[in-house]
Amino acid sequence: MPNQTEDLIERMTASGQKRALVVMAHPDDNEFVCGGTVALLSSKGWSVHIVVTTSGNKGTKDGSVTPQQLAFVREKEQRHAAEILGAEDPTFMGFPDGYIENSNELRGLLVRQIRLHRPDLVITWDGFRSGFNHRDHRRTGRATYDAIYPAADDHLFYPSHKRENLSPHRPSVLLLAGTDSPDYLVDVTSVMAIKVRSILAHESQMGGRTEAMVMERYRKRMIEERGAATVHGNKDDEVRYQESFKVIEFA
Ligand SMILES: [Zn+2]
Repeated sequence: MPNQTEDLIERMTASGQKRALVVMAHPDDNEFVCGGTVALLSSKGWSVHIVVTTSGNKGTKDGSVTPQQLAFVREKEQRHAAEILGAEDPTFMGFPDGYIENSNELRGLLVRQIRLHRPDLVITWDGFRSGFNHRDHRRTGRATYDAIYPAADDHLFYPSHKRENLSPHRPSVLLLAGTDSPDYLVDVTSVMAIKVRSILAHESQMGGRTEAMVMERYRKRMIEERGAATVHGNKDDEVRYQESFKVIEFA
């Protein structure tokens, strides 16, 4: 697998393409699957805007909490996480957790975000991957893909946006996260501590875990993925952390 992601980001940065839009399904998706990449982009002067399609009003083992209370907490946590990563204040679409549809309504809202923020790079879930995965991830990923092409760049789709002075726009590159067929790796070693802190901002999900515990879990996982042969003598500074994507370029 070629490791050209650094080149891709460097190439875009050098050419002045420095606007990114991340579309995720739940508060904390961004931090887990691409938080390191977002931190890297921010450090290179990119503006990164995160959109979360659901309100994250499920996903708790606390039997006393209501969906509204949970959504309120998780929105606050997502704002804090975005701040840690150097991203802009996020947009919340507020669809109920677990009920995302790749609908005309969702695509229209996503087209509006694309026309508004005019990203060069979009990151979303791989909605095409097989195996164990959340329906909100699949549908958010596919709706984002469909919003980019053919809709966002064609003024005849969602023409009401003209009243807001929003003109058609097509991003150059889409990175699909959580993919089972990655062709780009981003080395996020230099920003791993920031990524871990952004994950821990989601206290309702991560309660009780410390920075050292989360870092150790990642370290073990990276070592496992590289195979047992490399385990002996490994020190923290020898472990490289990566985030993987499938790349789609829109010519
Ligand atoms: Zn999720």
